[in-house]
Amino acid sequence: MSRPVDLDEAVGLLTGARQVVLLAHVNPDADALGSALALGLALHRRGAQVQVSFGAPEQPAESLRALDVAGLVVPHHRVAHVPELLVVLDTGSVDRLGPLADRAETAGTTLVIDHHVSNSGFGTHYYVDPRAEATAVMVLHLLDAMGASVDLPTARCLYAGLVTDTRNFRAASPDTHAMAARLLVAGVDAEAVTRPLLDTHPFSWLSMLSVVLGTARLEVGEARGLGLVHARIGREHVSCGRQEEIESVIDVLRTTAEAEVAVVLKQVGEHRWTASMRSKGRLDVAAAASALGGGGHRVASGFTLEGEAPDILDRVRHALADAPLLG
Ligand code: 5GP
Ligand code: MN
Repeated sequence: MSRPVDLDEAVGLLTGARQVVLLAHVNPDADALGSALALGLALHRRGAQVQVSFGAPEQPAESLRALDVAGLVVPHHRVAHVPELLVVLDTGSVDRLGPLADRAETAGTTLVIDHHVSNSGFGTHYYVDPRAEATAVMVLHLLDAMGASVDLPTARCLYAGLVTDTRNFRAASPDTHAMAARLLVAGVDAEAVTRPLLDTHPFSWLSMLSVVLGTARLEVGEARGLGLVHARIGREHVSCGRQEEIESVIDVLRTTAEAEVAVVLKQVGEHRWTASMRSKGRLDVAAAASALGGGGHRVASGFTLEGEAPDILDRVRHALADAPLLG
C-alpha cells in the first residue's frame, strides 16, 4: 500500500527514524545526489545512522564527490538490507534504483521525495510535487520544517541541484531564485560549485564530441512537424568516458534551431541503449518517454530499451508523433 503524504507527515517520518538509508537514482545527477546528501547531513546531525547510495556505478561522478563532506556515501553493496527508513529521492519509478530496487520492499518504511511528473507514487509513502523545479527545492522546504540549519556543506548540495535542474536558473521561479540567494548568503561560491558540474571536460572530450556530433541527423518532419535532431554515443565512448562528458552531449544537440526535440542514444550494453530526450516546451517528451517504458519531466525525459539503434529511433519517431503538444 502506497499513499501520498504532505510536508508535515514527511517530516514526522524523517525525524522519527534512527536508521535511514537515502537513495538516488542510478547514475545520480547533482539534484539526486545533492538532495540525498543535504537531507542525509541533517539527519546525521540529529544523531541518526545514515547511509547515502545509488544502484550504479560504484562511486558518484567525479564532479559530485566533493559534496559528500561527511563521508555518508557508501557503494551499493554496503547498503543495509532492511533499513528502518528508506528515503528515495529524485526517482520517478522503482526500476531507476537498479540493484537497490529490492530495498523499497524490505525497508520498514519507504518515503519517496520527488518532482517527476511521471512519478505515479511508490514506496509506502510518497511526497511528490511536479511543480518543484528540483528535488532540492523540496528538500529545502523539508529542512526548514524540521528546523534544521542550512550550513555551507548543505547549501552547496542544494545549490548544485538547483543550478543543474533549472538549467542555470533559466527555469527557476522567483521563489527558487530567492532560495538560491539564501544559499549564496550561506556562503556558496556559485562559480566554484557550478564550473566542475557543467563547464569542465578533459581535452579528449573534444574528439569524442566530434565523432558523436558527426552522427547527428536532423529530421524536420518528425515530432509532429516540429523537428527532431538525434545522435548516438557508441559503446567505446560510453564505457570509457566520465558521466560528465556523456551527459553533456544532449546540451549541445538541443541547441539545434530547426528541432523542437533532441534525442541522444547512449549505448550502455551490446544491445542496450539509454536515451536522453529534450524538448523546448512545445511537445511533452515525458509522455513520449513513458510510452517507451521510461519517464521524466515534460521537457526533459529518458528511457532505456534493448535493441538496435535504428529500431529504437523508429520507436522514438512513433512515440513523438503521439506525444501531446504543450499549451
Ligand atoms: P537525463 O537525460 O538527464 O539522464 O534524464 C532526464 C530525465 O529523464 C530525468 O528526470 C530522468 O529521471 C529521466 N530518465 C532518464 N533516463 C531514464 C530511464 O531510463 N527511465 C526512466 N524512467 N526515466 C529516465
Ligand atoms: Mn531532479
